[in-house]
Amino acid sequence: MSRTESVDVVVVGGGPAGATAGSLLAKAGHTVLILERETFPRYHIGESMVSGMAPLMEELGLVEELDARFRPKSGITLRWGRDPEPWRSDFSAAFSATGSHFTHAWHVTRSEFDELMLDNARKLGAMVHEAAQVTKVLQDETGRVTGVAYTQDGETHQVTARFVVDASGQGRLLTRQLTETSWQEDLRNVAVWTYFDSYTPIEDKDDILVEAIQGGGWVWGIPLSETKLSMGYVLPAEMLAEQTRGGRTQRDVFLDCLKDSHVAKKMVDVAALGDLSTTRDWSHVCDTFHGPGWAAVGDAAAFIDPLFSSGVWLGTSGAWLAARALDAALKDEGREEQVLERFDSLYRQLFKDILAYVRFFMDPTRLREEYEERAREIGNMVTQSSRVGFVSMISGVSAVADVVDFDPMSAEEVEGVMQEWDEQAAASQEAGEGDEERSLAQEAHAS
Ligand SMILES: Cc1cc2nc3c(=O)[nH]c(=O)nc-3n(C[C@H](O)[C@H](O)[C@H](O)COP(=O)(O)OP(=O)(O)OC[C@H]3O[C@@H](n4cnc5c(N)ncnc54)[C@H](O)[C@@H]3O)c2cc1C
Repeated sequence: MSRTESVDVVVVGGGPAGATAGSLLAKAGHTVLILERETFPRYHIGESMVSGMAPLMEELGLVEELDARFRPKSGITLRWGRDPEPWRSDFSAAFSATGSHFTHAWHVTRSEFDELMLDNARKLGAMVHEAAQVTKVLQDETGRVTGVAYTQDGETHQVTARFVVDASGQGRLLTRQLTETSWQEDLRNVAVWTYFDSYTPIEDKDDILVEAIQGGGWVWGIPLSETKLSMGYVLPAEMLAEQTRGGRTQRDVFLDCLKDSHVAKKMVDVAALGDLSTTRDWSHVCDTFHGPGWAAVGDAAAFIDPLFSSGVWLGTSGAWLAARALDAALKDEGREEQVLERFDSLYRQLFKDILAYVRFFMDPTRLREEYEERAREIGNMVTQSSRVGFVSMISGVSAVADVVDFDPMSAEEVEGVMQEWDEQAAASQEAGEGDEERSLAQEAHAS
């Protein structure tokens, strides 16, 4: 029988971004319903995490479990640019420069990781319906989003909510309908990937391998376990289309990529190449990540080529920001637009920084030092070391302080207090007490 529910927040999609938003809002005491169309565990690509995610995993209470279940990722080994030899960046360098206790990230089997995240959302108090496909966005006469309709077990149900979070990944349930999406033409790529059941590790065996291929594109090697390796080839969609003309298959293209590689081909036995999967890998961003009654996070909001494995970090960071903004808006309706605007602008900045750097890095003709220096500049790093700047940028660590310290209310509070003191100072000036009063007020506020 159809039912109508009512909650504070309904989250569309139970992937890492949706599970994060749902977990944190439930933890903050709000009623949350996560609707996920699949039944977990379900397959997903995107297996290499970056260390910038560690503080969020700590906030969610998951670090120990991740350490116990998944392979640590200690850095990235690159064969890229004009240097003929592979070079590496160690994740721990980025955190130790900030005095943090974190050292590493994880390589994960996404079906298990995503299930762990969603189960954790349940533990933290969110309701989760699986096999529940959202089919419609509900809006009132002003256009404000007020809930969704979904189908489960052949029935259609409705849920009304003060806020809807679109975390539907590439499905983009709300954002497809409510925003303009820009597709980054220069990052219109395709990925073709497979798994090997045995492999020869690279020297730093817990690193991801990222290697540029002479003819175009790049290859990843992700050591999921001692025996299982995920390997994929990312290349421009046009190039794949050209290379598969005249009866050539994706398998031929993948084999050519391995033949042209220097490091990747030494890791695997090409004769053991199994089935290949493929997907579009086209970077995009919505013109807004929020509107009346809704916010978007994860791939539903923005997606960047997986060159630096930034997808889950970006999506879950956005969800962490959104959760704090929505918590503030739920507590004080009058602040909705301001707090969502603040969430939107910081999240967009994270996206823009990574995108700018991915674009710079995609040119494989530079020297290591050039890549490193540019990363330090974009990441707005205080460190003078471009090597640390580089690893901080690509691991998300350079943005950790902004994400962790984000308080959607603080700037407003400061503005409010300063305005109050300005008024007091003006009143005292009129009474002849002058500027001294204001500077004393400012000093007191700063301390
Ligand atoms: C080739 C490739 C390689 C990648 N490699 C990496 C990597 O190494 N590291 C990394 O961090 N990222 C990587 N990514 C990116 C990463 O996979 C995504 O950024 C990440 O999964 C986004 O998380 P999400 O929660 O936004 O979306 P998803 O993980 O896709 O979750 C969205 C969920 O919403 C559900 N859903 C969709 N529509 C509906 C609906 N109508 N109703 C209910 N539920 C719905 C889906 O079933 C899904 O479970 C890669 C991406 C590609 C394409």
